[in-house]
Amino acid sequence: MPAGRFESRPPEQLSRALIVGGGIAGLEAAAALRGEGYRGALTLLSAERHRPYDRPPLSKEVLVGDADGSDLEADWNELGVDLRLGCIATALRGAVVETEQGEFGFDGLIVATGAAPVRLPFEESSGAVRYLRTIDDALALRPSLVPGVRVVIVGAGWIGAEVATAAAAMGCKVTVLEAAGAPVADALPPEISNHMVSWYADAGVELCLESPVVGFSDGRVQVADGGALPADVVVVGVGVRPETGWLSGSGVELDDRGFVVVDSGMRTSRPGVVAVGDCTAWESARYERRLPGGHWDHALRSPATAAATLLGGDETYDPVPYFWSDQFGRKVQYVGHWSKEDTLVFRGDPSGPVWSACWICEDHLRALLTVGRSRDVSQARKAILADYVVDPTRLADESISITDACLDRSNA
Ligand code: FAD
Repeated sequence: MPAGRFESRPPEQLSRALIVGGGIAGLEAAAALRGEGYRGALTLLSAERHRPYDRPPLSKEVLVGDADGSDLEADWNELGVDLRLGCIATALRGAVVETEQGEFGFDGLIVATGAAPVRLPFEESSGAVRYLRTIDDALALRPSLVPGVRVVIVGAGWIGAEVATAAAAMGCKVTVLEAAGAPVADALPPEISNHMVSWYADAGVELCLESPVVGFSDGRVQVADGGALPADVVVVGVGVRPETGWLSGSGVELDDRGFVVVDSGMRTSRPGVVAVGDCTAWESARYERRLPGGHWDHALRSPATAAATLLGGDETYDPVPYFWSDQFGRKVQYVGHWSKEDTLVFRGDPSGPVWSACWICEDHLRALLTVGRSRDVSQARKAILADYVVDPTRLADESISITDACLDRSNA
């Protein structure tokens, strides 16, 4: 992004801050603005009718009845936020956000509209087709997950695997249909994702790979090879796309996938407009590429930088990305960012219950995925942050800690 396209202003010149999007990123943005000392008007518009809540518990706790909600803690009075629920932004024109409930002017705008599930084009033919993004989705799906019910899940990505875990735990007969040749194939290389295949069978879930779904009709899910699978409930989890259609024609630059393009200060291409969370693709100096949002940690952390930027600060956002998923009794955690050129080193047997995979580039750790070994995550994050030189042979020895596999720890 060329320098000077976004001019920050001194804090005292900001008097009407507007946040669009009431997920965790929107709430964190409000808290960060107040935390930075902003005392002016603060309005938060959210399409949903619920106060901001957390999404990860929806698949992990709400679906199995361990929780009925996941509200995020906030003292709304203390925050002094004019919270407008059920208020959908339809356009950004000049210094005004248009909604069906009228116009909202601003002199500083934080875009936090997140993402929404990708919808299959043929869902309308069956009322049994569900998606999981909101608390309403989770509470509507939960009563269907009873013993013996035939649940077909479309997509063996992160969400598909978590819904399969929940449905199997509730005694449903679960089948997962995946178009690719392995689970999570768009995020992980086959050397890793192939080891996840057996997790499904171990949990009593049938996983059908290379089985693209081509339609739903008469209570059956039709697969490209001509097969049809009877289903009482179909849950589609084939990815998300950023909720940024309302920014069309606003001058806020979007990339070819619809993510808001932001720099390392979460600045968009429009002065006075910053963006945070799932809807953004941010510039990572560490990985020398633009990384898309889509994970909770980014939604939690990016607002602090965005708020500081809006108030005239000059913070740089360059975290080591982090993501986790709980599936089939395993905790999967991923830290960093891997590339095809990196060398893959395993710590432990990937067909076993506890192992890690490390990506190395020119003797530096770039990313780590672990199943069941949280200690590796914190040590890997530290090694990536400090850019330590690692010894691949020691790294492959799981009896040696990641920290001890780093050769140059003079600044440890
Ligand atoms: P969102 O949570 O999408 O919030 C955006 C808000 O903006 C929504 O309330 C939306 O309704 C509102 N909005 C959208 N458009 C408009 C508009 N035009 N006007 C007004 N409001 C609008 N991540 C992990 O790292 N680990 C996990 O284990 C994990 N589990 C997950 C499980 C589930 C079931 C789901 C759905 C997600 C999970 N995630 C997980 C992803 C994580 O929850 C998201 O990264 C995070 O919620 C993103 O927060 P956000 O505030 O950027 O966006």
